Amino acid sequence: MSPKAPITQDVLTIPRKLPEGKINLVGLTRDQLRDVLIENGTPEKQAKMRTGQIWQWIYQWGVRDFAEMTNLAKAYRAQLAETFVIEIPEVVTRQVSEDGTRKYLCRIAGGHEVEVVYIPEEDRGTLCISSQVGCTLTCSFCHTGTQKLVRNLTAAEIVGQVMMARDDLEEWPVPGAPKDETRLLSNIVLMGMGEPLYNFENVRDAMKIAMDPEGISLSRRRITLSTSGVVPEIARTAEEIGCLLAISFHATTNETRDVLVPINKRWNIEELLQALASYPKVSNSERITFEYVMLDGVNDSDEDAHRLIDHIKRHNIPAKINLIPFNEWPGAPYKRSSNNRIRAFANIIYQAGYASPIRKTRGEDIMAACGQLKSATERARKSRKQIEAEAGVQN
Ligand code: SAH
Ligand code: SF4
Repeated sequence: MSPKAPITQDVLTIPRKLPEGKINLVGLTRDQLRDVLIENGTPEKQAKMRTGQIWQWIYQWGVRDFAEMTNLAKAYRAQLAETFVIEIPEVVTRQVSEDGTRKYLCRIAGGHEVEVVYIPEEDRGTLCISSQVGCTLTCSFCHTGTQKLVRNLTAAEIVGQVMMARDDLEEWPVPGAPKDETRLLSNIVLMGMGEPLYNFENVRDAMKIAMDPEGISLSRRRITLSTSGVVPEIARTAEEIGCLLAISFHATTNETRDVLVPINKRWNIEELLQALASYPKVSNSERITFEYVMLDGVNDSDEDAHRLIDHIKRHNIPAKINLIPFNEWPGAPYKRSSNNRIRAFANIIYQAGYASPIRKTRGEDIMAACGQLKSATERARKSRKQIEAEAGVQN
């Protein structure tokens, strides 16, 4: 580890007890749910069964009110309601793009806000969720990177984003109705605000809940975690989550990657590639997605494309390269590569035998595209500052 760029892992958690003294059951693992039920008066002998029942009501049926848990005795339901709540982030605004993309601004404890994006496609619907408010990292092309880390999201707030979207899409099954095979929300990508591997435990617990077969029950192959390259946590992700992995690669030399993805100063390209090489085997997944943002004149040359292939081949990594046309945001220091350049770059990769899809930009009209997320309050604050600066106001 190089001492050059100390990057701390801020683990800021908020207590599970809510202000009014009630405990939120969302986001607890099955074991934690069982423990908390026992601690609050459920007889130990019944705890396993009650855990299973309550779990199903919350995650399979989307129920938020204990009174609706009809397979529990009335007195027990009342007892639960006195001690617990089933709480998820509150939707503050919802914007729908011309292309059907939905962007939600959600309020979480402490008055903070996170953005969640739903992207409908022909054969799937992907929910892009956030893992932190802001980010400790400062990737120079990313809008979220200009916002300081406020705090890590709890497991409840992470899986709560999925539950919130299912509410909005009206996708909770109705008791007795046949199971819907074609889900509106079929995939999750951890590609919203924040670095998921700097909030490992909460992300893991939330994704475990999303995968649980007696609940939301999404396959681990339909969940993709994107990281900027927190090398020590990559092996843990394979072992403890087992979802698909995407890596924000973005540059083929350390010199350029140090600038674009500054965590590279701590774990460089070589160290990163080594960690990636063992991921597919350990997690039993097919291939890793290399994300590569196309920045005009910065990382988009033919030489870059060849170097990228070289890195992947040298380490024998099963890979797909996802080219992302840069999404501009106010004050961004880069420009998007031309379509011709992106196509030429994609072609070199394709000729080398790797899939090289160019990511379609979605929801641009509502600032919902990759790297454009930033909470509205933060945007408002920034623009006030800018206005003051322009007017020459001194603080
Ligand atoms: N922190 C994680 C996940 C969130 S970012 C990570 O960095 O991987 C999700 C993806 O969007 C990353 O690949 C990121 O590099 C990319 N991205 C960020 N800003 C972007 C922008 N302005 N245009 C296009 N892609 C961007
Ligand atoms: Fe953080 Fe990812 Fe943006 Fe980098 S690209 S600043 S890691 S959210």
